[in-house]
Amino acid sequence: MSGALPPLREVIARHGLAARKALGQNFLLDLNLTGRIARAAGALEGYDVVEIGPGPGGLTRALLDNGARRVIAVERDTRCIAALEEIAAAYPGRLTIVEGDALKTDMAALAARPTRIVANLPYNIATPLLVGWLQTEPWPPWFSSLTLMFQREVAERIVAAPGGKAYGRLAVLAQWRTSPRILFDVDRRAFTPPPAVMSSVVELVPRETPLATADPRALETVVAAAFGQRRKMLRASLKSLGRDPAAMIEAAGASPTQRAEELTVEQFCALARAYTAGR
Ligand code: SAM
Repeated sequence: MSGALPPLREVIARHGLAARKALGQNFLLDLNLTGRIARAAGALEGYDVVEIGPGPGGLTRALLDNGARRVIAVERDTRCIAALEEIAAAYPGRLTIVEGDALKTDMAALAARPTRIVANLPYNIATPLLVGWLQTEPWPPWFSSLTLMFQREVAERIVAAPGGKAYGRLAVLAQWRTSPRILFDVDRRAFTPPPAVMSSVVELVPRETPLATADPRALETVVAAAFGQRRKMLRASLKSLGRDPAAMIEAAGASPTQRAEELTVEQFCALARAYTAGR
C-alpha cells in the first residue's frame, strides 16, 4: 500500500524532480485529490489502467490503491523512472512503467481489456492525445472510459453545445463518439507548481454506436475546414475542401449562409459523408 511509500514531496526532492514547463509538469501532491480522481474513474478492480505522464506517481499510487488490476504508466521524463520503480516495488506485478513519448506509444498493445485511461495530462499534448483516442479504429475502442484532467477552457470546448464560442472541432469529435461530461473543477493551487489557469476533470465514455455514420478522417477534414474560418458562412468556409460546397451543405440539411458553430454533430457527419461520396 502507498502508506509504505514516502510522501511525494520527499520523492520529488530525493529524485531531483523539479518541474519542467516544457514537459507540462504540474504535479498533484495532495493524496485526497489523486484519490478523488481515481474514484471518479469508476470501478478499477479487474481493469488495466493506462496512465499518461505519471510523473512522481501521486495519481499512480491512487489508481493502485483503488484496486486497478494493473497500471501501465507512460512517462517521457527519464528523471521520474527511479521514483516510479519504488512504487512498482510496493505493488508487485501491478505497475508497468513505459519510458517514452505517449504520442508515439501504441497504448492499445500494452493493456489488456477491460481498460480505462486515466491521466493528469501534460497540457501541451492533451489535445493531440485526446484526438488520437477519439480517432481510434475500430470503434468501439479498446478503452472503456477516459478520465482526464484538462485546462478548464479545453474541458468546456469538449462538452460545448452548438451555438457558442466554445463549440468547435473538439466538441464535434468528442461528442460524435463519446458522451463527455465535466466531473469537477480543480483549483490551480492544487498543483505544484500552479498552472496559470483552472483545470477540470472530464469523463468521456465511448458510445457503442457513434451519433451518426462518418469516416473519422473525413469528419476531421470537414470540421477543420468549417471551423478554420468560423466567422465565414459555410458556402465560403467549405470552399477550401475543393468540392462544390452547395451540394454538401444541402446533403447536411444546412443552409449556405449558416456558420460552422450552428451545425449539429449529426450535420457535420452528413457533411463528411457527402465529402467522402464526392471523392
Ligand atoms: N501524473 C502526475 C501528477 O498528477 O502529479 C504528473 C502530471 S503532469 C501534469 C504531466 C506529466 O506528463 C509529467 O510527468 C510529464 O513529464 C509527462 N509528459 C509530458 N510529455 C509527455 C509525453 N509526450 N509522453 C509521456 N509523458 C509525458
